[in-house]
Amino acid sequence: MATIPSSSTATGGSSSTPASDAETLRRNRILSSKLYFDVPLIKVPVIYSSSYDIAFLGLEKLHPFDSSKWGRICGFLFMDRVLDKSRIVEPVEASKDDLLVVHSESYLSSLKSSLNVSIIIEVPPVALLPNFLVQKKVLYPFRKQVGGTILAAKLAKERGWAINVGGGFHHCSGEKGSGFCAYADISLCIHYAFVRLNISRVMIIDLDAHQGNGHERDFSNDRRVYILDVYNPEIYPYDYEARRYINQKVEVVSGTSTNEYLKQLDKALEVAGRMFDPELVVYNAGTDILDGDPLGRLKVSPDGVTSRDEKVFRFAKEKNIPLVMLTSGGYMKSSARVIADSIVNLSKKCLIDLERAPR
Ligand SMILES: [Zn+2]
Repeated sequence: MATIPSSSTATGGSSSTPASDAETLRRNRILSSKLYFDVPLIKVPVIYSSSYDIAFLGLEKLHPFDSSKWGRICGFLFMDRVLDKSRIVEPVEASKDDLLVVHSESYLSSLKSSLNVSIIIEVPPVALLPNFLVQKKVLYPFRKQVGGTILAAKLAKERGWAINVGGGFHHCSGEKGSGFCAYADISLCIHYAFVRLNISRVMIIDLDAHQGNGHERDFSNDRRVYILDVYNPEIYPYDYEARRYINQKVEVVSGTSTNEYLKQLDKALEVAGRMFDPELVVYNAGTDILDGDPLGRLKVSPDGVTSRDEKVFRFAKEKNIPLVMLTSGGYMKSSARVIADSIVNLSKKCLIDLERAPR
């Protein structure tokens, strides 16, 4: 589990242990958070803010990442008239107190160093910038996305599904950021769901090409969380310790084709459904499995991504389990179009409803 400062001011008798103090403090932080707010029914459970997008002096071009992917996904949905701008949900930025639910004070303080942030997001020139700029242009967009991931669980519980058009920072744990992931939004989302939605069984289905070592470390010994991770073992992060915490590991090597990938996924979902009975699914839907992605090194076609998403949504829907989808990694310019097309397909197959008439 992630640590919480033990010098807590949590309530509790003098006989309470530091661990229970930490748990009380975490609970209080979650209960007093502003991230869970009521969303009117006129809105669809698609969460996005224009402040998700990172565009900054051209530096964003140095990372092999389409850093305005999130806005472009929504742009396609608006342009294709699949979704009206006024009906998407704008999240609240995660505050320091919100982040402390999973992160340690020392980790959050480490982000006050531009050098540390530059290492986490893998953009060396960011080290040279004053930290207030790094906060505003890089970390603020991430904190908005974190707010979106956390809110998504509440919306999914109410509506059956929710898509955060961002988030999925699965390399970040409570103690350490890396691989473009500065905050552990998945771990945060799940802790909020435990307390605010009164649930105790969550399944993470992590289908980004990379291993989700952040949430794996955070929930290493937590039996409330079942992790299915389908990843390429030949690429970053090579986190062998975290691999031990995966409940169901499916390794797909470089060059895996669409057919082979989908066959493995069918089998994996069938097994997962027998092994665990979740009350919430958190689906990390990275598109770096796409053929041509220089980092993921798999060979899944755009239609393959659409089928993949459809299979996961069907898995949850058939069992009546609320599902949160996060867009996670996917570093090519083509990713945004593929994600938008997949969302349209989910709507066509009646797995999500973007059309519900305003009340
Ligand atoms: Zn990835």
